[in-house]
Amino acid sequence: MIPNVDVLIVGAGFAGLYALHKMREIGVSASVIEMADDVGGVWYWNKYPGARCDVESMQYSYSFSDDLQQEWQWTERYARQPEIYAYLRHVADRFDLRRSISFGTTVVSATFDDADQCWRVGTDKGDNIAARYCIMASGSLSVSRLPDLPGIENFAGPVLHTGNWPDNVPDFEGQHVAVIGTGSSGVQTIPQIAQRAKHLVVFQRTPNFVVPARNHPLAEEWQARWKSEYPEMRAQARQVGTLYDFSDTPALSVSPETREAEYQRRWEKGGVNFVHAFKDIMTDIAANQTAADFVHERIRQAVNDPVIAERLCPKNYPLGAKRICVGSEYYETYNRDNVTLVDLRETPIVSVNGQSIRTSAANHAIDILICATGYDALTGALMRIDIRGQGGVSLAEKWSEGPRNYLGLMSAEFPNMFIITGPGSPSVLVNMVVGIEQHVDWIADCILHLKATGSAGIVPRVDAEDKWVQRVNDEAASTLFTQADSWYLGANIPGKPRVFMPFVGGIGRYRAICDQVADDAYPGFETLKEH
Ligand code: FAD
Ligand code: NAP
Repeated sequence: MIPNVDVLIVGAGFAGLYALHKMREIGVSASVIEMADDVGGVWYWNKYPGARCDVESMQYSYSFSDDLQQEWQWTERYARQPEIYAYLRHVADRFDLRRSISFGTTVVSATFDDADQCWRVGTDKGDNIAARYCIMASGSLSVSRLPDLPGIENFAGPVLHTGNWPDNVPDFEGQHVAVIGTGSSGVQTIPQIAQRAKHLVVFQRTPNFVVPARNHPLAEEWQARWKSEYPEMRAQARQVGTLYDFSDTPALSVSPETREAEYQRRWEKGGVNFVHAFKDIMTDIAANQTAADFVHERIRQAVNDPVIAERLCPKNYPLGAKRICVGSEYYETYNRDNVTLVDLRETPIVSVNGQSIRTSAANHAIDILICATGYDALTGALMRIDIRGQGGVSLAEKWSEGPRNYLGLMSAEFPNMFIITGPGSPSVLVNMVVGIEQHVDWIADCILHLKATGSAGIVPRVDAEDKWVQRVNDEAASTLFTQADSWYLGANIPGKPRVFMPFVGGIGRYRAICDQVADDAYPGFETLKEH
């Protein structure tokens, strides 16, 4: 049985591992519960061909230990999944974290005990653990979602989800493979599968904007120089998330030739940096259209068949309002003889049968079905746990119209439960390792403050929470982010409330707000007195 602790952490990805290390550092007892049989989180589950980060490796890594960042060698600009997984395994071993992690165990309930002022956490193994604090490091993109296709349960071959990829995957060679979904995961895996499969059919519902990665091996000297500059680089990243080349210039303030040249320069360098070519791309639809037009032209250049090229051009939402994708040879893949693109808006899937997928226009023979169909993002992992706060109030009921919390960190009536990179925080809009470290450090300071002041805990006030939710909504509404049916809004899950969940104001501003709250002795929160 898992023993009682001061802090119970759910999840052993980037967030849970750092939270455990930090809790030990501040001298509180902590343990982690993880449903997988190893550490890694996303990088444990997403073993699909082509999986890699799209924030550069030198930045998509922890900054909390200089020894760690100096000794770890990345091999590519954007590390592949096996390398990031190896890195997280190394972190677990290097900081001796495994002894406090219970693997293969799922947290199913967490109930606040008003009398004893602690959380009582239940697992699928029958544990009942008392913990003063809970840290939900359960992930923003950890609950994968299969599509509701008529007859999918009758499909005779393997049905794989990119976010839950098994170790023993059938060889794609000589097989008829289908990929459903063209978000970041689909975009990464489609070119890889196309090289192996006899035939690949891509079922696309919405095309995405895909910028080239321009991935390459990391030169030794370049990495050494970067490491020597880590103190300054990490300090800057704490303000901006990722060190992109941010512009102060509005797109329409320069000539079309200058604009084109700037887009071209960034296109050639590769990566998400493209979106930061002008300062108003995410706030002004006319500015945004110039970037979209540029990408449309690149698609038309890359794809030989003009009909297919038009199908691949996203036209009904602003660039960046759905998470921009970073790919390698993505558009060029549609020039291959063994790849077919099916536009589900023209010809929807009618049924899945034993060995085929039937659309309104054709029957496609399929041996292996790959679903790159995304996640119940940001709230999914929390909603799967029966979380009950003061007086038995249910988090699922409280959030039934959309997530409500203060600073993205805690929800009123749920004392001492901290949420890492969840809704109401910059979360998935920034380099998530930076966001994770900021959250964990803030939580550690908060727990130290509570100990120092002899408090049994902390809980947000409803009025502070209401104001924060309003602010998150208002800031999102002033951008173009709300103008797409994205998972940021829960639009990919039927019945999920349509609320833009992340805080769009950036990690620097957000950090300043959180720091100010801590410096001012936690206004907007109430503390619990020891009984
Ligand atoms: P996760 O890594 O999701 O870990 C959460 C863990 O909690 C999981 O292991 C899960 O099994 C466990 N868990 C959940 N519920 C329970 C429960 N009830 N009981 C027990 N265990 C539970 N972000 C970037 O910033 N840059 C990138 O380049 C990038 N690339 C990505 C690529 C992919 C394929 C995906 C899917 C996401 C990517 N992300 C990226 C976002 C990614 O979510 C974060 O960067 C980061 O890995 C999140 O770490 P985490 O620890 O918060 O969550
Ligand atoms: P996603 O962005 O949600 O994409 C899912 C895709 O599946 C979309 O194209 C969606 O179409 C389609 N889809 C969903 N249900 C469908 C259905 N019933 N029928 C047909 N199509 C359906 O999911 P993801 O690609 O896994 O990416 C999620 C996030 O994880 C990313 O945005 C990113 O933050 C992160 N990620 C990052 C990387 C990286 O490059 N580092 C890689 C993978 C993931 P609609 O758009 O029409 O809904």
